[in-house]
Amino acid sequence: MLSDIMKLVDKFVNIFKKRLYGRTFFCPVCHLELSCHDTDENECMVCPLCGVVIELHETYGHFVPIVNDVEINRVQPKARLHPLATHLPLGLFPFALLGAFYLLIISVYTKTLGTGISAFPFASSIPVIDNLIFLFLLIAIIASALTFLTGVIDWKKRYGGRSYRVITLKIILSGLFLAVGLGTLALHLVVFEAGMIGFDSLISVLATIGYFGLFCAAMFILATLGHVGGYLVFGK
Ligand SMILES: [Zn+2]
Repeated sequence: MLSDIMKLVDKFVNIFKKRLYGRTFFCPVCHLELSCHDTDENECMVCPLCGVVIELHETYGHFVPIVNDVEINRVQPKARLHPLATHLPLGLFPFALLGAFYLLIISVYTKTLGTGISAFPFASSIPVIDNLIFLFLLIAIIASALTFLTGVIDWKKRYGGRSYRVITLKIILSGLFLAVGLGTLALHLVVFEAGMIGFDSLISVLATIGYFGLFCAAMFILATLGHVGGYLVFGK
């Protein structure tokens, strides 16, 4: 099951990677996949994972990476704020999504049976769950904006602000997550009323479909971001 999800995430990453990376090669030391566009004007680059200095040559249409040196003065910040901040949206978002599906099931159930919310056990908890979902979404989005900022600082300090396509990919996915996440947050206010979905008009039905579509897309982008981030730090 988990390997199937990872295959799906890999396929999603590859859609962006193929366009963004162009031709790729693997670091001879840590085997991180890198773009040929990551080299500087001297055809040299520092591997963002293991820190070796690679000189890239093209021979008979094949890239031949040669290790010249190791970056020994890499900044190692004591407080790694970026990986810390990353885990807040990653931890909260799945709970918010589960809560939203729970409220969807209750709304469909009561609508189908024609019963009121009061007939449902734990009815008083429904508005509380509604507020919690909104709060988790809000914190996750604010935390992801902080993650983005700390990521940019990390990139400037730890990676010397060098251009890496893997970091460009992370920046694109972060922007996408922020946009989709904000859309989900706005639709949450439209879809739910005291924790229940009305389904009493076409707008309500369409907004619900849009809400859950955006919610699942944001969750998927977030998982992909975590996957790419983990790849940059730990390799394969
Ligand atoms: Zn490497």
